[in-house]
Amino acid sequence: MSDAAGSTMVVIGAGHASGEFVTCLRQEGFDGRILVIGAESYLPYQRPPLSKTYLSGEVTIDSLYLKPLSTYQRVNVEFMLNMRVDKIDRAQKCVVLSDGRSVHYDKLAINTGGRVRRLPIPGAEQAEKASNFHYVRTIDDIDRLRRHMEHGRRLVIIGGGYIGLEAAAVATKLGLKVTILEAAPRVLARVTAPELSAFYERVHREAGVDIRTGVGVSGIEFDASNDAVSGIVCADGTKVPADVVIAGIGLIPNTELAEAAGLEVANGIVVDEYSRTSDPDIVACGDCANHPSALYGRVRIESVPNAVEQARAAAAAICGKLKPYTAAPWFWSDQYDLKLQMVGLSQGYEQLVLRGSTAGKSFAAFYLKGGRIIAGDFVNRLQEFMVAKKLVAEQIVVEPQVLADETVPLKTLLQK
Ligand code: FAD
Repeated sequence: MSDAAGSTMVVIGAGHASGEFVTCLRQEGFDGRILVIGAESYLPYQRPPLSKTYLSGEVTIDSLYLKPLSTYQRVNVEFMLNMRVDKIDRAQKCVVLSDGRSVHYDKLAINTGGRVRRLPIPGAEQAEKASNFHYVRTIDDIDRLRRHMEHGRRLVIIGGGYIGLEAAAVATKLGLKVTILEAAPRVLARVTAPELSAFYERVHREAGVDIRTGVGVSGIEFDASNDAVSGIVCADGTKVPADVVIAGIGLIPNTELAEAAGLEVANGIVVDEYSRTSDPDIVACGDCANHPSALYGRVRIESVPNAVEQARAAAAAICGKLKPYTAAPWFWSDQYDLKLQMVGLSQGYEQLVLRGSTAGKSFAAFYLKGGRIIAGDFVNRLQEFMVAKKLVAEQIVVEPQVLADETVPLKTLLQK
């Protein structure tokens, strides 16, 4: 990918990965034209606050942008917003826009992120047209939702993942009466140990949230006008009345463009550790990309640090420099006064070691496999999280009792 001088780089998607990618491209020395085509009407912005401080109204839209327009202008990055790419024509080396025009590329980045998984139940399509039914992915979604976040209203959240729990924390603080319906036997079941799930369920219940686990949803009820959702029907026949509904049941990666263009797609656009696809002129980064991790095999990760790291590797690769993405994945979640930070992927762990007690508001949980630390969750433990990023990256072998002993500073484990 070193033949980039003077060429045109087209970037599909103006999200987090792209915001990082385009400025890195200039830093790496790319001197051609850079054009970002984004379906939303905004410059690249941070999504994490959407279910946190932007939903609560603590921050304004201006603070969401990754960089001001002037930064992009200074490095000569062009944007075409409110515009979808409908097709990638690899033979002609162009992308076809939703208004029918074509744009030539020499190099292409597919940073298309993902879209919300829609509720797969009867009535969902009608609910999506109702003003009080919401998904949580974009600024526009939250601007719609916020108008309904009024004190005393009954909010039903379908899905007890991070986004659902964060929205529940915000809504509770704003005085709404919140019910969470989670189909799995516990919240956060896909990503944490039962001990962590139990901790978060307790915290939410103490705050007044009605958490119902093992409860699938099977239908939606509407008011007499048929314009607003009035309740959710559970698989066991229970009806939960609602003034507002949020569905947060996951994400589907936007891989269709890549697939139709003949690129390899398998739970994400398949890339290498430099974010290169099977086409030497095309990179892909972020939620839509599936990359090889030295620690965990092939993974597709939905997180800001992942989007940023992949974007950096891609920018370097386009400029002929090979800087592999090797960092352990990490993520965070803010709920009430709890900052949760996670590093690594815990799937397949054999032993959980707690450091501190889940009865309080500060503890760590380490996931071990074959005696090695493969992941860790940290609640209000910033310093230990920083050390743990290295412990996980190095997959350190530890004695569980040493790890659990809070009198032993974690950093001493690194020195071995
Ligand atoms: P996106 O930021 O989704 O950007 C992709 C863009 O591409 C979108 O704007 C989309 O409209 C556009 N696009 C798609 N197809 C086309 C097309 N054909 N033509 C033109 N444009 C197109 N991560 C964390 O690490 N910590 C958190 O606390 C956290 N909280 C989150 C809270 C919420 C509510 C959400 C929604 C996400 C959160 N995430 C969090 C995840 C994080 O925001 C994503 O991992 C990150 O945004 C991924 O960046 P991306 O560039 O891959 O995708």
